[in-house]
Amino acid sequence: MNNRTLDPAKDPMGRAIADFHSTGKAAKLRVLSSMFYEDEIPVATLFRKFGDMPLLEQEMFKLAKGRILDVGAGSGCHSVEFMQRGHEVVAIDISELSVQVMKERGVDARMVNLFDETFNEKFDTIVMAMNGIGIVGKTECMQEFFRCAKRLLNPEGAILLDSSDIRYIFENEDGSMDIDLAAGYYGEVDFNMRYKNIKGDSFDWLYIDFDTLCYYANENGFNCEKCLEGEHYDYLARLTKR
Ligand code: SAH
Repeated sequence: MNNRTLDPAKDPMGRAIADFHSTGKAAKLRVLSSMFYEDEIPVATLFRKFGDMPLLEQEMFKLAKGRILDVGAGSGCHSVEFMQRGHEVVAIDISELSVQVMKERGVDARMVNLFDETFNEKFDTIVMAMNGIGIVGKTECMQEFFRCAKRLLNPEGAILLDSSDIRYIFENEDGSMDIDLAAGYYGEVDFNMRYKNIKGDSFDWLYIDFDTLCYYANENGFNCEKCLEGEHYDYLARLTKR
């Protein structure tokens, strides 16, 4: 998984981002999962401006300091905003199509997988927006994630990320839970996307509740604080090296 990048022929989201960037519109970006009903990501929201961002994301701009790494940056919507606020920013993404769009938007964008150990620059803030921690995929990869974060962060650096506790999906009306404890952590989801005739490969995506995030942070030498709660089991966290 460390050096995986996306072939444009199998990159529905990247193609949607590229279409929207060049024409101002895009077809339906469909999201499929064995756990959820089919859904859709409105492609315009991937180009959201500060005023259209959820409060949790807006708060990231208040908390971020210094040189920024925007991980899984997509269209570069956060990178562009950080640049306008005077930050030095590097954006990384495994999507060649998205990286090309970001470059056209003036962002210092690189086709780099977060888990690629040869990527060795230093940052004051690592930003992972739109449940960006999702790219970790499974809780068993949290250790590897923190190892990468340690390598990339300056001593006083911080990770800012938003995620959700998806336990509400398994909750019955009486408050009991239908969670198969033998099946692994309940926030581990599989997704695949479709756009026009492009089918992406299935990928693992992690939603992590705050307590579980703190557990892995502490195990791996990080402090974890909740900065803000959203309206639907979502939150913004700030992680710093101990
Ligand atoms: N942060 C953006 C986009 C989120 S979608 C926003 O808030 O709008 C998640 C992005 O992460 C996609 O563009 C995908 O290509 C990228 N991605 C997935 N795995 C990655 C990895 N291991 N390293 C870097 N980027 C990754």
